[in-house]
Amino acid sequence: MKGYGMISIGQAGWIEKPTPAIGALDAIVRPTIVAPCSSDTHALHGGIGVKENLILGHEAVGIIEAVGEGVKNFKAGDFVVVPCATPDWLAPGVQNFKSFSHDTGVMKSFKFLGSKDGTFAEYFHVNQADANLAKLTDGVSPEAALMTVDMMSTGFHAAELAEVKYGDTVVVIGIGPVGLMAVAASVLRGAGRVIGVGTRPICAKVAKEYGATDIISYKEGNIVEQVYRLTAGRGADCAIIAGGGGETLGQAVAMVRETGTVGSVNFFDYRDKIEINALYWGLGMSHKDIRCGFCPGGSERIRRMMEILKYGRFDAEKLITHKFNGFDELPAAFELMDKKAPDLIKPIVYLDK
Ligand code: NDP
Ligand code: ZN
Repeated sequence: MKGYGMISIGQAGWIEKPTPAIGALDAIVRPTIVAPCSSDTHALHGGIGVKENLILGHEAVGIIEAVGEGVKNFKAGDFVVVPCATPDWLAPGVQNFKSFSHDTGVMKSFKFLGSKDGTFAEYFHVNQADANLAKLTDGVSPEAALMTVDMMSTGFHAAELAEVKYGDTVVVIGIGPVGLMAVAASVLRGAGRVIGVGTRPICAKVAKEYGATDIISYKEGNIVEQVYRLTAGRGADCAIIAGGGGETLGQAVAMVRETGTVGSVNFFDYRDKIEINALYWGLGMSHKDIRCGFCPGGSERIRRMMEILKYGRFDAEKLITHKFNGFDELPAAFELMDKKAPDLIKPIVYLDK
């Protein structure tokens, strides 16, 4: 079968591979719509797990081609929504109450890109289909469902990590698709003021539509100072990190007030330097918490995300700014994601057209 991916670090191209083998609990899926993601571009440029001859992509909806003999809830021909993280639910990590994102080690539940080929292919493999696939909820479009598998689950997790509460002032550092979902989640969790940090005009527009009250630019001065100025010296209750480099963690700690919480889903590069100014951290005595995490996966998580969309809490399709048709357009969609055009939030590619 044909796939699009990373031939070696920094070099993208078409890859030919055998159709993946299926285990007793697994499924093989034929993707109908996929979405390139910042994590695919990070994988191409530095590697997340596998570093060569890897089909990229981890966001997809599609049709089941085959299921293993132990799969109970799905059959060939079913339309499915595929979470980007597909834990091994039998592993010790998922039996730990704290996290099911780290089944056999840090981030190991992220199988696509991490340990096997992804979704930019004619077919892809899903482990433990009963626990890792979701049926499309009635009243939710396939395009909106595609936004739940990573963008929404990750952005919502950022607001969970930051423990956003009624009336909080929340700063969302980075308002790409993940940060925009964190804006929507913060509003749903009852935030008062929501300050977005970013510059792409389309992102600022959608952030406001999702309920951001202010937008500031990291290109127009120190964002910590801007937040203190906007809040008349009080600082924020929560800071969410969904963009920028290693410097954002120290900035987030500095902009939250005592007892505040930093929630990050940002992908920090291994070359990033994370520095926290001890004074801004209340010399370590401020009860400012730093909580960092990774997209929760599994069927139940995605079912819950789709419930939010079904009842019209917000419109996830606003993230989709570019639509491509056909396998041959995958490279163009991927390149758009890599270059981050000013009018881009999220591209999708219909593979069945
Ligand atoms: P985008 O690149 O689309 O958005 C990044 C945002 O950060 C933009 O708003 C950008 O502003 C802003 N930004 C860039 N530099 C800075 C800076 N120095 N200070 C403040 N803001 C800055 O990314 P995505 O929304 O796709 O992803 C966000 C992050 O989440 C990435 O690191 C990605 O890898 C990670 N991620 C993590 C996942 C997880 O499970 N934990 C899953 C998916 C993604 P501008 O408007 O100027 O572009
Ligand atoms: Zn993604």
